[in-house]
Amino acid sequence: MTAGQTFPVSEIFQTIQGEASFAGTASTFIRLQGCAVGCPWCDTKYSWDHHTDDWRSIAELTRIARDGPRHVVITGGEPCEHDLSALTASLLNDEHMVQIETSGTAVIRVDPCAFVTVSPKYGMLKPVLDAALRRADEIKVPVGKAADIERARELAARMSAFPAARMFPRHPRIWLQPISQSAKATAMCVRAALEHDFALSLQTHKFVGIR
Ligand code: SF4
Repeated sequence: MTAGQTFPVSEIFQTIQGEASFAGTASTFIRLQGCAVGCPWCDTKYSWDHHTDDWRSIAELTRIARDGPRHVVITGGEPCEHDLSALTASLLNDEHMVQIETSGTAVIRVDPCAFVTVSPKYGMLKPVLDAALRRADEIKVPVGKAADIERARELAARMSAFPAARMFPRHPRIWLQPISQSAKATAMCVRAALEHDFALSLQTHKFVGIR
């Protein structure tokens, strides 16, 4: 463990994870501050600034998570701009499930037992790293238009060239996620899921009006 390591925190809250593999799971979200990825339509621009007064130690974050659900999601900002190895190890040692949500544009430094969601967005200023796709436990692609389906297909093609794809041809699972509960995007995702064997992520938290 990295003694003295601290993390800039944007916010910590509890909710139901509404997306992809863990949809329906009560979760503590730890949103870290700082992101240089620059997605044009980012809905958490308040997390871009690297400066904050709220820095928390690994012990503090582990203690806070202890008061909440077993599942902990570390998001951002771009959480992988930080070395998360010691933090994820501490949370796992404290009997949490740990999920990271990352754009896949930074090197992923986490405990081997952490679950990694790579979610590339349209218009990112940085490319998705092969290493991130190799480490991913799931891929989640926000879909607003047909070009987003093409991006998902391109990612699938990239991953099919990895040696591990021969043993695990459906891993990691690729989720298509319609943006803003759009009926048009949802219909597009359903068609693409059936045609290309993708999965459908419906942001179930929004159906019940929670964040
Ligand atoms: S990676 Fe996430 S936080 Fe950063 S700009 Fe893109 S959507 Fe926003």
